Amino acid sequence: MRIVLLGPPGAGKGTQAEALIKKLFIPHISTGDMFRAAIKAATPLGLEAKEYMDMGLLVPDDVTIRIIRDRISQKDCQEGFILDGFPRTKAQAESFQAMLADRNEALSAVLNIVVPLDKLMVRLTGRRCCKKCGSIFHLLYNPPKEPETCDACGGELFQRKDDSEETVSRRLKVYEEETFPLIEFYKAKGLLRDIDGDQPISRVMVALGRSLGQDWS
Ligand code: ADP
Ligand code: ADP
Ligand code: ZN
Repeated sequence: MRIVLLGPPGAGKGTQAEALIKKLFIPHISTGDMFRAAIKAATPLGLEAKEYMDMGLLVPDDVTIRIIRDRISQKDCQEGFILDGFPRTKAQAESFQAMLADRNEALSAVLNIVVPLDKLMVRLTGRRCCKKCGSIFHLLYNPPKEPETCDACGGELFQRKDDSEETVSRRLKVYEEETFPLIEFYKAKGLLRDIDGDQPISRVMVALGRSLGQDWS
């Protein structure tokens, strides 16, 4: 299965992808996570990406398209993948279609997680992530059992620098301008499925399953 998770920052793409991989046994590919790993390793890619990410802007298309082309060519992607945070622009979506066609592959579905824009600020400023394993929490909506500690691995939780109020505002604007048009792009291809993301995390998961023809209730 080749799945794209679409939706604004804070929609719950990363949270749902973490759960989906346990059901579908295919890799979770997050361009945001790949860039953050590159920043941590201080690679040239990381140095370039950081400038854009810290400002809440998109990393240039050519760089982003290249890392996805490399990633989906790896062996673990043969049976499929869950893309989270890619594509984010029309140019990325078009290149991605060409990439898949070259490989004689096709997308199974684009799952569009729909959340009212006015809920996203609280979701993003309250987000906390594990330094060690990347698990995602929320101070109010999905709090860890022990403060500032990851339930999964005991690692320390931190707040992403780009989850500050000012940077979130910029990211939401970038979403509306660059990424929102992809809804029509995929609708026209008959691939889009809307999922109500404005309900508890476990219920969103059930809705995602249903849209894939699975019963996860
Ligand atoms: P995205 O990857 O789309 O940016 P995340 O999965 O990181 O979104 O979720 C953003 C924040 O919202 C996290 O703190 C997460 O715990 C929280 N969250 C995710 N899904 C829900 C939900 N259905 N209801 C409330 N909060 C949620
Ligand atoms: P979110 O949880 O808000 O969806 P991500 O972790 O997906 O955030 O992305 C964080 C940042 O990484 C983005 O604001 C952007 O700077 C960069 N980024 C991630 N994916 C892409 C992409 N497909 N194209 C360009 N930039 C990207
Ligand atoms: Zn952890």
